[in-house]
Amino acid sequence: MARVYNWQIARKMSYWYGESRPKRQFAAVFDTNKCIACQTCTISCKTTWTSGKGQEYMFWNNVESKPYGGYPLTYDLKLMEMLGAQNWKGDIYQGQTIFEAAPAGERVLGYAPHHREYAYPNIGEDEIAGVVDKGMHLTLPNMVWMFYLARICNHCTYPACLAACPRGSIYKRPEDGIVLVDQKKCRGYRECVKACPYKKAFFNSCTGTSEKCIACFPASEQGSQPRCFTECIGKIRLRGWINVPSKADENNPIDYLVHIQKVALPLFPQLGLEPNVYYIPPIHVPDPYLVQLFGPSAPAAVEKYKACHEKDPKMASLIQLFGCTPHVVSQFEWEKDKISALNDKKEKLVTVPVTEPVTIRNPFDLKRSVPRMNIN
Ligand code: SF4
Ligand code: SF4
Repeated sequence: MARVYNWQIARKMSYWYGESRPKRQFAAVFDTNKCIACQTCTISCKTTWTSGKGQEYMFWNNVESKPYGGYPLTYDLKLMEMLGAQNWKGDIYQGQTIFEAAPAGERVLGYAPHHREYAYPNIGEDEIAGVVDKGMHLTLPNMVWMFYLARICNHCTYPACLAACPRGSIYKRPEDGIVLVDQKKCRGYRECVKACPYKKAFFNSCTGTSEKCIACFPASEQGSQPRCFTECIGKIRLRGWINVPSKADENNPIDYLVHIQKVALPLFPQLGLEPNVYYIPPIHVPDPYLVQLFGPSAPAAVEKYKACHEKDPKMASLIQLFGCTPHVVSQFEWEKDKISALNDKKEKLVTVPVTEPVTIRNPFDLKRSVPRMNIN
């Protein structure tokens, strides 16, 4: 095993291959506070990529209600238990990653889900943590909670699927860091299914090969965001590129939210994969649960997010930009009352007002001589 540096756990760790970062790394930020679990993303991905035979159970994008939902069922709880103590000292992870905890003769600590665990993709949906007693009324902060967690492949910097593949069928593209399965090389050993802790590699029993989210790479090559991003009703997603912390660019929206503001965090950083989808944590969930999911910076990220409208108009404006363009956002420009998204060539993709103008319409439509139903 090689020694590589993982900035998300602030230390070196063991990995099957040496450190080799792509020229650019696919990255995204999801704002969990805006997700409404409409599942439009799930269906847009399903109808685009996984409507064929053997793909029936595949959800390259899924949205699960936490704490009880998960696809496949309890995938995260199982691995947390297998891994044991996951302590942090400041930003430095003290426990083992899934590469370091691999049993003798294996490359990664993992498990293969039983097919029944894929049978109920929306089990636990909208279930709250806690009991609603008779006569209970709303108090703040909320006594009971749940939130929606949208998930795709993280196109990890240190992919467990890639490390575990005995045939070298999985590769990380040097031009954009997207992780793909070479369908001609794959022999369906399912080591990737076992190894991916996020369970985002799937076996197709009709083709005998493994398949996974491809980050809509044909669209990405044309400068467009993936389908699950462009269709997102809640406008929770922003697709861009991430640099390593030492090269953080304050005009790059992903760098700004992840490295500079530290308000967007990776999912289960302690596992050691350096995943590249980042989450703004939910504001109404107990800290210990957030720390387990998003690492020790989660409580501070929540406080920063909650205060951004008063204290950080630039960050509040950037969050307005999510979902406002179908194109990949490489840079952004903020000018107090408006914010613009820019592409690789620094061309403006869209400009959004920070405060939506209020339009008061006549309650009576003179042209059609009818009262309006939607007065606002
Ligand atoms: S999320 Fe899973 S399938 Fe995707 S790159 Fe990481 S290990 Fe591989
Ligand atoms: S489309 Fe957007 S808002 Fe709807 S479930 Fe998916 S991530 Fe959430």
